[in-house]
Amino acid sequence: MSSKTADVVIVGGGITGLSIALHLKSLGVPRVIVLERHHVGAGQSGRAAGIVRALVNHSGVASMLLDSLRFLNHFNESYGESIAVNQAGYLLIQHAAQSEVLNEVIRNAAAAGCEARQIRVEEARELQPGLNAQSDAVCAFEPGAVHVDPMVVTQALARVAARMGVEIEPGCEVDSVVIDKQQVRGVATQSGLRQAGKVVIATAIWGKSQLEKAGVVVPVYPHRVEMAFFSVFPKSPDRLLRILSDARTLLYLRPEGRDQMFAGWREGDRIASPKDFAVVDPDHYRQTSHYASLADMQRRLATTLPFMNDGFVHRTYACVYDYTPDGMPILDAAERVQGLYFALGYSGGGFSLAPWVGSAMARFITAGVKSPEMQLLRLKRFEEGQLLSWSNAEKETGHA
Ligand SMILES: Cc1cc2nc3c(=O)[nH]c(=O)nc-3n(C[C@H](O)[C@H](O)[C@H](O)COP(=O)(O)OP(=O)(O)OC[C@H]3O[C@@H](n4cnc5c(N)ncnc54)[C@H](O)[C@@H]3O)c2cc1C
Repeated sequence: MSSKTADVVIVGGGITGLSIALHLKSLGVPRVIVLERHHVGAGQSGRAAGIVRALVNHSGVASMLLDSLRFLNHFNESYGESIAVNQAGYLLIQHAAQSEVLNEVIRNAAAAGCEARQIRVEEARELQPGLNAQSDAVCAFEPGAVHVDPMVVTQALARVAARMGVEIEPGCEVDSVVIDKQQVRGVATQSGLRQAGKVVIATAIWGKSQLEKAGVVVPVYPHRVEMAFFSVFPKSPDRLLRILSDARTLLYLRPEGRDQMFAGWREGDRIASPKDFAVVDPDHYRQTSHYASLADMQRRLATTLPFMNDGFVHRTYACVYDYTPDGMPILDAAERVQGLYFALGYSGGGFSLAPWVGSAMARFITAGVKSPEMQLLRLKRFEEGQLLSWSNAEKETGHA
């Protein structure tokens, strides 16, 4: 058993915890410890699609995402790393009846500086050969959107943070936050105490119960999701070239290497309210897709990309999102416990927000000031009825 002391202890070695750690170091915080109960990236971060785009229906959220895009695009030169940032661009396909909504999304994102535009279906088919899009669809394209290997980026952040002096302890499970006289004193782990006046909970769905033990209630719900990698038939002349989101089939896709693609469900379309969450115990749930849902996904994939009629399932897995009622995270500090911070509730979009979150949280932790954008993500918004409306989901279409 060992006792260590830090200025800030971060619980959770995913992209959020590591980004906060890196940004704290950039602001000159001397002693930062990250505690991860398993390996770095063991949670959602290592299993994400790694898509980063800014075409969303809220200028504040688009601005956060553009910050993240800049961070990733300059990561290698800033930190001497060599991650691959794939400049594939983002093709968004909505039902033809949603043309007005699509224009609104483009306008709102443009207000933050996102360079996306509505394109004709013919142009969409040029950008993605083999795409099935006719008069049933309206399309937008964001050329600056990228995809990355999420584990490679998470590990790169860990390396950079460690080089800057962050102490990362994998295999170190936090049992509880130690609080005395309404002031954080550190965290208790199976290998002893980590003392700090500031503790950040960055543990996604697990954070809900950890915060509850400290008297903070957050509206974050576990929601099980499934994904699959599909392979193109080797002799097919077509490949997936773009990040693609298709409201007609409720799928989003991104290329994986030359011959594969990552496919996931547009959960935003499938969830109208918390009653739609597929609630599971985040430590005990079925880790692979149900066959019926996988077959449905494959059928829909071949509707978006008919050349995938000859494709096949490469592998599949399930994971648990940390969902909030408005699908946006909660970044805040406890009202009644001095020094307790939290960043969770990403609802399936935390990879792309994490670089911005790290910077916003680090400034909040060190200077006590929230940027206006961070203010949007306060815990109290739920109680005040100030939920964020930012998505381009077409809820009325349901999960056909
Ligand atoms: C299939 C899938 C696809 C996705 N695609 C995208 C995408 O394309 N773009 C996007 O923006 N987002 C995407 N996401 C969402 C994104 O992956 C998450 O929002 C993001 O990774 C959350 O990061 P995090 O660090 O907050 O949480 P996590 O990565 O889950 O990290 C939390 C960590 O806390 C650790 N932990 C928990 N309890 C303790 C404890 N007691 N002590 C110590 N450590 C503990 C866990 O082991 C875990 O490693 C996707 C998610 C999934 C599942």
